[in-house]
Amino acid sequence: MRNESLAMQFFLKLGFEKVAWSLRRLHCPVDKNALVLEVGSGGNPFSRSNVLLDAYEETRERHWAPLTSDRPTVLGFAERLPFQDKSFDFVIACHVLEHSSDPAKFLSELKRVAKAGYIEVPDAFMERINPYRDHRLEITVRNGELVIRKKSGWMAEPETVELYEDRVKPLLTGKLIPKHPFAFHVRFYWEGTIPFKVVNPETDATWQAPVVGSQCKIPTNGRLRSLLQNVLKRVTSQKARNQTININELLQCTNCAGRLEAHMDKLICKTCDFSFPVRNRIPVMYPLQDIQCQ
Ligand SMILES: [Zn+2]
Ligand SMILES: [Zn+2]
Repeated sequence: MRNESLAMQFFLKLGFEKVAWSLRRLHCPVDKNALVLEVGSGGNPFSRSNVLLDAYEETRERHWAPLTSDRPTVLGFAERLPFQDKSFDFVIACHVLEHSSDPAKFLSELKRVAKAGYIEVPDAFMERINPYRDHRLEITVRNGELVIRKKSGWMAEPETVELYEDRVKPLLTGKLIPKHPFAFHVRFYWEGTIPFKVVNPETDATWQAPVVGSQCKIPTNGRLRSLLQNVLKRVTSQKARNQTININELLQCTNCAGRLEAHMDKLICKTCDFSFPVRNRIPVMYPLQDIQCQ
């Protein structure tokens, strides 16, 4: 499996790190027949993703960007994926894992539904000095293994953050990170199994995120770059194929893993009888306990 595109390798070699970085969402190391799921797909999914899953239609956690649903889309949780075992060849999770309070469950679900995948998160160093209120984990890679630390609150070291914000922050977020994005992010490909360790599994990361202030800014591209990206997105997407995917054949009940039967505007579990609504062709697959506590 060659993970990076030739174009990305080319621009990296030339030292155009920014261009190489912007190409990463256009590439997925699978052949054209592979079925690709993206979890936490939000408002800007990878072009190659065939099926999308997100927890919310709208959320502050992605700066209220509306959910893109231009291909088969499902609402549900990454920690309780509504898909049958190994129903996908590849799963993309880009800037989602760090939002989970249960990384072990999250990763075991990715491994259950797909044969291989790609995970991208901000690197732990950035999270420590420039913490985000909705990020519950600090993640880095050591010796080919994801090393995950659960945050016991949104800011681990207020003193360090204060020192950083006083002088260095504008330089780092405005100049250094956009110029050298690879150093500040974790990009992790896996196949078959996901090597990881949670260094503090006993820590509770389910705290309420504070709602004040703005969060990580989404960088905006220049007009020419976004135009080019849109063209490339169209070329690398599988728009026609995506329309033919029967999502019901991939889904399973999130309460009991039973098979589902399609009715007018709902999917009913053949085993436990639970019924999942379908809104605007989007199955809403929240498990029972989460519906009750909402
Ligand atoms: Zn994030
Ligand atoms: Zn069921």
